[in-house]
Amino acid sequence: MLRIQDLKLPVGHTAADLTKAVLGALKIEESQLLSFRLFRQSLDARQPRRFDFVYTVDVEVRDENDVLLKGVGVVQTPAVFHFAPSGRVLPFRPVIVGTGPAGLFAGLRLARAGARPILLERGRPVEERVRDVERLIVGGFLDPESNVQFGEGGAGTFSDGKLNTLIHDPLCRLVLEEMAAAGAPPEILYKAKPHVGTDVIRETVKNLRRSIQELGGEFRFRSKVTDLFVEQGRVKGVAVLGSDGIESPAVLIAVGNAARDTFEMLLSRGVRLEAKPFSIGARIEHPRERIDRAQYGSYAGHPQLGSADYKMAHRASNGYGAYTFCMCPGGVVVAGASEPGGLATNGMSEFARDRPNSNSAVMVGVEPKDFGGEGPLAGVAFQRRWEGKAFALGGGEFRAPVQRVGDFMSGRASKEIGQVPPSYLPGVVPSDLRECLPGFVCDALKEAIRAFDRKLKGFALADAILTGVETRSSSPVRIPRDESYQSNVRGLFPAGEGAGYAGGIMSSAVDGLRAAEALLAENTK
Ligand SMILES: Cc1cc2nc3c(=O)[nH]c(=O)nc-3n(C[C@H](O)[C@H](O)[C@H](O)COP(=O)(O)OP(=O)(O)OC[C@H]3O[C@@H](n4cnc5c(N)ncnc54)[C@H](O)[C@@H]3O)c2cc1C
Repeated sequence: MLRIQDLKLPVGHTAADLTKAVLGALKIEESQLLSFRLFRQSLDARQPRRFDFVYTVDVEVRDENDVLLKGVGVVQTPAVFHFAPSGRVLPFRPVIVGTGPAGLFAGLRLARAGARPILLERGRPVEERVRDVERLIVGGFLDPESNVQFGEGGAGTFSDGKLNTLIHDPLCRLVLEEMAAAGAPPEILYKAKPHVGTDVIRETVKNLRRSIQELGGEFRFRSKVTDLFVEQGRVKGVAVLGSDGIESPAVLIAVGNAARDTFEMLLSRGVRLEAKPFSIGARIEHPRERIDRAQYGSYAGHPQLGSADYKMAHRASNGYGAYTFCMCPGGVVVAGASEPGGLATNGMSEFARDRPNSNSAVMVGVEPKDFGGEGPLAGVAFQRRWEGKAFALGGGEFRAPVQRVGDFMSGRASKEIGQVPPSYLPGVVPSDLRECLPGFVCDALKEAIRAFDRKLKGFALADAILTGVETRSSSPVRIPRDESYQSNVRGLFPAGEGAGYAGGIMSSAVDGLRAAEALLAENTK
């Protein structure tokens, strides 16, 4: 297999154009070409009058040497990373706590190695969880154990399903392949910004569950881990709410960033935890068409481009860094709360990304010095404080406080909604977000919105809507681990976003794979 890089074709090109470009790049006749597949497709939108797709293409030809000898600048396609088969089988069943991306991919790895993992999940299977989330969205009723944060598939299930990541790990490819095999759109294998959408990711999660079960893995839902058995600094097993405990000398803990009660329990059992920086802010919504036009100009609405995204950052004069995060083109703002009396927002979209608004989080990074308290859980207390204020400002039942950007910039409370209807359900209350966000965060956001407007025309649109508060962008704690992926309590393998080693679906999945691999290595020495 040969790889062609940097093949440029204008937006609007046809499949035949691509074949022609491949033949041209290799300087071969069509009869020499056996097959080709896209490895990567990105968009070069630097020239407003000409947008190009830039391709990396893997090609099979009749005579590779003939092509290589021509010196046409192709390379041999590198082999995809796969785990070497493990020689020995674990003499016990490992326990995985949490079935988010980290837990699921750890489960897949351990099941493939014949370890028959037991996956414990506090929430419900996807099918039931969808109904629980609907009850929150429609009626403002929160089930603290089954919501946007908790349940099968973890926080990624009700998400935008963006799979792009800042990590450069060969395992990312493996995750994409597993997800595509489990029903995610095949285009995730080559798009520079792969996106699944909440509607499709729910099916993908179910299929991953089935694969793990077929390999001997076991899922137990409604099974919150409430205690950790530790003897002489080693894990002996876990206690599960409403049932007997499970004994195992290896527990992979992948509980996500919202499992505050579990963090408390771990701390009480002698597991080392530390406070870490994270971010706080609000969701901002604009009309999708406006963002498309600002980003794509005359290409806006082109079927090959889809809805436009953006990503911007600004260092504010008060020293705080502000940035846009988790952009959901053509998506909605969702209730990301997991505790009674605390409101948190997030964003999600369907595969089509065709809702009227586009949203993103506008966030400000905060550090332990900002938390106003001491100890490993000071960040959790900080999150709770602002989530509680947002809940109160919304008047209860998980209605969210919102403010027009124009009002936020001029420092006055919003009295009404303008031309951009907020997408958040179960409802919104026009408010002053200064009452549910720290002053320094509002100052940084104000400055950042102005700066973002200079980069993306219309970002500071007066009627754009801010919905408060977004607090769950990453974990407020880290569970330190050594090079063998174990915490100070031996046999406990912290993984994923909650452990503070990942941020986002892809990096959490990769971290789950790496932690599972370390668990296998440690126990098959
Ligand atoms: C609405 C929303 C949209 C998002 N959109 C994107 C996106 O588009 N792209 C992206 O990359 N990231 C997105 N994210 C973030 C992404 O979902 C997380 O980074 C990722 O899911 C973290 O994976 P994880 O496996 O570490 O933890 P989680 O996905 O949080 O999973 C942890 C699991 O552990 C379970 N659990 C917790 N405590 C216990 C316990 N004591 N016992 C048993 N089970 C327990 C929970 O129920 C949960 O299922 C989004 C998040 C949200 C909330």
